[in-house]
Amino acid sequence: MQILVISDIHANLAALDQVLHEAGSFDVIWCLGDAVGYGPEPNGCVARLRALQPEYWLAGNHDWAALGKLDISDFNPMARLAALWTREQLTPENSDFLRTLPARVKVSDQFTLAHGSPRHPIWEYVLDAQTAAVNFAHFDTSYCLVGHTHVPAIYRQQNGRVAVPAYTLGEPFELENGRLIVNPGGVGQPRDGDPRASYILLDTETLTATYHRVEYAIQETQVRMSEAGLPSRLITRLNYGW
Ligand SMILES: [Zn+2]
Repeated sequence: MQILVISDIHANLAALDQVLHEAGSFDVIWCLGDAVGYGPEPNGCVARLRALQPEYWLAGNHDWAALGKLDISDFNPMARLAALWTREQLTPENSDFLRTLPARVKVSDQFTLAHGSPRHPIWEYVLDAQTAAVNFAHFDTSYCLVGHTHVPAIYRQQNGRVAVPAYTLGEPFELENGRLIVNPGGVGQPRDGDPRASYILLDTETLTATYHRVEYAIQETQVRMSEAGLPSRLITRLNYGW
């Protein structure tokens, strides 16, 4: 089975549509959360994903923020503004739907999915090997897929150590050999210095994950953000991937 794994769409419909277009044929979608927040088309993104019926679809901190499910006083001012704007925009139907999403799911003996981390699914960022090392004790499957950082990454636990193996874009990475925490990167607001939308295709027969980056019409999203009156720094950052 070919699984399209996406995360952190952040209401960026141009990016989502380009990913769906370039991913080609896949069997199901696993979405690791933050469909909304930051970007200009929360309803458009939720509607697009709902139509595609992801097999698994998690809630992230920005989804919860837009639903009023968490305290946003910790958010930076721009994120807070975007969360409040998103809250106003979401239709009651889409809000109700987002409210039903889990923050963590055990798919099988092989895969656990969490938005942030298996330890703290909504909030924790797995950005380094130390944080990954602690988190390996918090799931009992071979692999855990996480989003939230908007930075593509693989952490491998092997012989009691955590390593960060290299991978090549477009080339299948073999999942076997140790337990892994895998982050597909962000679709709608990449933060690794590469503005292209990021995703992985997971092949459960060959047990491989292939990272992809795609260019999309960033300007299209930026124009819509301006029209919506979203903060200029959020608009600019899309050009740079930070
Ligand atoms: Zn996010």
